[in-house]
Amino acid sequence: DDAGVPGRVRVAVRLRPRNAEEMEADADFADCVEVLPELKRLKLRKNNWDSETYEFDEVLTEFASQKRVYEVVAKPVVESVLEGYNGTVMAYGQTGTGKTFTLGRLGEEDTAARGIMVRAMEDILAGISHDADSVSVSYMQLYMETIQDLLVPANDNIAIVEDPKTGDVSVPGATIVEIRDQRSFVELLRLGEAHRFAANTKLNTESSRSHAILMVHVRRSSKGRNDRETFPTENGNASPLVTSFRPPIVRKSKLVVVDLAGSERIDKSGSEGHTLEEAKSINLSLSALGKCINALAENSAHVPFRDSKLTRLLRDSFGGTARTSLVVTIGPSPRHRGETASTIMFGQRAM
Ligand code: ADP
Ligand code: MG
Repeated sequence: DDAGVPGRVRVAVRLRPRNAEEMEADADFADCVEVLPELKRLKLRKNNWDSETYEFDEVLTEFASQKRVYEVVAKPVVESVLEGYNGTVMAYGQTGTGKTFTLGRLGEEDTAARGIMVRAMEDILAGISHDADSVSVSYMQLYMETIQDLLVPANDNIAIVEDPKTGDVSVPGATIVEIRDQRSFVELLRLGEAHRFAANTKLNTESSRSHAILMVHVRRSSKGRNDRETFPTENGNASPLVTSFRPPIVRKSKLVVVDLAGSERIDKSGSEGHTLEEAKSINLSLSALGKCINALAENSAHVPFRDSKLTRLLRDSFGGTARTSLVVTIGPSPRHRGETASTIMFGQRAM
């Protein structure tokens, strides 16, 4: 098993159950997919007698628990972040297929429902030393190639800064909040969601049109120490002498969790002005992401990170020594077979 091997994107597909409306309206029709979790395969029905089979790193059925999804999709990435490597967890899929359910559920009334963001923070807080280490987060949305702070929404149009020497990517304009306990993190996520909703209402857009990006910065530090040697003194007593001071070693890493914009094709024909620009920019960032994922899968020397803000932002936590996990979310409804097929193909190209 190559769980979380650096440089390669690990891809899981998650099928959500039919909702009440689909159960009723499509009662006479079979699901457009069939999952074979033991084989890590998924069949996409072409018609009543023919189907195409696809293989993934993991296939999560409509019965998969949030806990299992976390363990399969995110846990190896979180563990490597605790060891000092950067990592990314992303959800890709059509609006309504469970991206936010998978990543963002707070699960306060029902802890079994907690999503990946909350579970990841729990593991990070449990894995660090509270004396020496620290965890801080920023939360933003990327909409039409513009980054807006979801913690302090007045910070919009935030710049991405790349350190030419280290290749580190940062967004210094975004608020960073230190997290000491799980409760304050959940509060922060809730605040970010509220701001996201308000911002989108103001712009008269849907949140499904923007990417939500959570960055968790982990800073771990070994304690500095004095090396001592003892020297005999004239009166025969030993005297300790500090010969050198070893400074603490600080390791910084980050986990980026991305709830991507809905992957449904946005109709360009017939739309105008704002909507056309919006369509172009969403298609731009998702297709730029797809190209980077393909380049990594093919071990290509050139990964076109520069093509969009989304990929520029992910540059240092994607490929290389970073661990990247993608969960593609799909619904079972035969009505959305076309979108489901294109989501599956996006995931396949990453393998
Ligand atoms: P997206 O973020 O991709 O637009 P959501 O996460 O908002 O989709 O999910 C759409 C609806 O489907 C929500 O009502 C959500 O609760 C439900 N849902 C999604 N995934 C599942 C699942 N695995 N099990 C049960 N309900 C789900
Ligand atoms: Mg969503």
